[in-house]
Amino acid sequence: MADPSLHPTLQRQVKRVGLLPSDLAAVACLPVLLERVSRCYAEADQDRYLLERSQAVASREMGELHAQLAASQARLASLLSLSSDWVWEQDTTLRFNYVSAHTNEIGNDLATLLTGKRVLLDLAAVGEVEARQFEASVASRRPFRNVVFGLTQPGGQPYYLRLSGEPVFDGDEFRGYRGVGSDVTAATLAQQRVQQLARYDALTGLANRSMFLQQLEHALVRAQQGGTSLSVFFIDLDRFKAVNDTLGHDAGDELLKAVAARLTGLLRGADVVGRLGGDEFVVLLDGDPDTGMLTRVAGRMLARLAEPLHLGGRPVQVSASVGISRFPGDGADAASLLKCADTAMYLAKARGKNNFQFFTPGLAEQAARHMSLEGELRQAIQQDELRLHYQPLFDVRSAELLGMEALVRWQHPQRGRLAPGEFIALAEESGLIVPMGRWVLETACRQMRAWIDAGLDPRRCSVNVSARQFAHASLLDEVREALASARLDPSALEIEVTESALMEDPERARQSLEGLHALGIRIAIDDFGTGYSSLAYLKRFRAQTVKIDRTFVDGLPGDREDAAITQAVIALGHSLDMRVVAEGVETESQLQFLHEAGCDKVQGFLFARPMAAAQMTALLRAGGKQRDAA
Ligand code: C2E
Ligand code: MG
Ligand code: MG
Repeated sequence: MADPSLHPTLQRQVKRVGLLPSDLAAVACLPVLLERVSRCYAEADQDRYLLERSQAVASREMGELHAQLAASQARLASLLSLSSDWVWEQDTTLRFNYVSAHTNEIGNDLATLLTGKRVLLDLAAVGEVEARQFEASVASRRPFRNVVFGLTQPGGQPYYLRLSGEPVFDGDEFRGYRGVGSDVTAATLAQQRVQQLARYDALTGLANRSMFLQQLEHALVRAQQGGTSLSVFFIDLDRFKAVNDTLGHDAGDELLKAVAARLTGLLRGADVVGRLGGDEFVVLLDGDPDTGMLTRVAGRMLARLAEPLHLGGRPVQVSASVGISRFPGDGADAASLLKCADTAMYLAKARGKNNFQFFTPGLAEQAARHMSLEGELRQAIQQDELRLHYQPLFDVRSAELLGMEALVRWQHPQRGRLAPGEFIALAEESGLIVPMGRWVLETACRQMRAWIDAGLDPRRCSVNVSARQFAHASLLDEVREALASARLDPSALEIEVTESALMEDPERARQSLEGLHALGIRIAIDDFGTGYSSLAYLKRFRAQTVKIDRTFVDGLPGDREDAAITQAVIALGHSLDMRVVAEGVETESQLQFLHEAGCDKVQGFLFARPMAAAQMTALLRAGGKQRDAA
């Protein structure tokens, strides 16, 4: 029967096929075979036992690892929620597909804000260089560090985030990026503000000096490469200091802002407007402008800046002087172009302001001459180099001498006699006009006294007062003193103020005139028609005389427009109960026209040129009959 040494399964199989032990012995090899098969069974049992045991052990270990991993993830999540950093993953198109739970500084959920957004498409890298470096890293699947990106949040606020990431590969296959991010909105905004302050003028928002120079240098490189020209305008307000002094710094600031807006409004987007400081503005005109275009721009600029504006509720009028330099003619670098434009501006100012000058090589020399003149002008008063000339005024109808206008001359020791056009603006700019004006007033009054004492009848003397003198608080006292020390009746003096000086600050002008008026001094509005005064102001100034500017008289009688303006001023003056004087009358036909138009007084080369006091004395002795003699 069954051999108990065989594997039980084999014993069962042997029994099932009905083999007897004697049968087994009959086949000599069978016991050996069975014995081997049995051993195989036993070994298989052993293997299974071992396998099952090791499976049990492995599954217990896996469970433990899993628990450890879950705990580690929880720790990481809790740490991330504490830190300002967060983790993210992006797909191969750099689209955020995972962002760890985090809210940003203003409480927006980052996962909502960023998921689905693509870097460089929906988020812009801050900084050109950084953006290029980032693109290069990504293109070659390299890690990147600390790149700042910005986007606009649904509420409109900017959001800046800093990302560091590394590529993710599955074998050789690129799967995207993953990394950490942090919120840098506050820091980036602060940094932008600092940059803004470093490049732009805080008051006007225009480019500041360094920014302007930088832009100019870029433009110069482009112009050099393209073989085109460009131009720099240097703009300086006339009498800005007077506005600041009389109306206060707030009004001054307002004015600068208005000028910035006017300049910006005049130019194209490609032109750069900057403020160098104070009342100095600069403009870069790019794009190959020719002289005609520059002239037109400068003209428009002057007109726009001279338009009256309201400062602190008061109408004020200012003008500007403009200097223009050109590349390539005047210089090849930013600094020298700016310098040339500045020099040209200086001469525009010296030539009576409210005009523009192109830089020319001769101009630099002229400017240097002017600068030395300013130093010499300081001494001119002490060294007794100033002289007064007098130009008579006549009645149109009776040809009677009605008085004279005092006109200053400078007897320069080397340069000979200089006309006021060569130094009045300079005197204004430097403030020397105040002592000079005082000298003119005193001298004119003293001369009137001398004529009266000599038994002559000089009638009335007109003295010109400049804008700055007019704004100066001491004017009234000076007039009073000059009259008193010459023992002169106030009716012997007339003060001439130009229309544009009055319009710089009409309300203040009105008050100053009121003071002169109270002293019994007559007022003449000089150079009328060149400013922007309105009828309403003319009336409020309560002047007795209006002087039609020489430029209108020039065109008489042929120029239709000049004729119309002259007639209108005469009618206007008369309607306001003023006397009307025409200055610069040079021809009989001009006189004829003025006579017919009803003009009251005339002054001009036709009758007499301005003359020294001694000649005037002779004219007065002759009974003022020079007009007939002329
Ligand atoms: P203004 O007050 O309009 O003076 C008239 C100017 O016209 C004077 O020039 C005079 O010489 C000139 N003129 C007179 N008749 C004729 C003419 O028939 N033809 C031409 N072409 N010109 C004529 P001037 O003396 O060169 O003075 C120029 C300006 O300088 C004056 O213009 C005045 O605004 C200013 N000025 C002169 N003296 C003084 C002064 O003492 N103080 C101030 N603040 N300004 C002065
Ligand atoms: Mg005058
Ligand atoms: Mg005049």
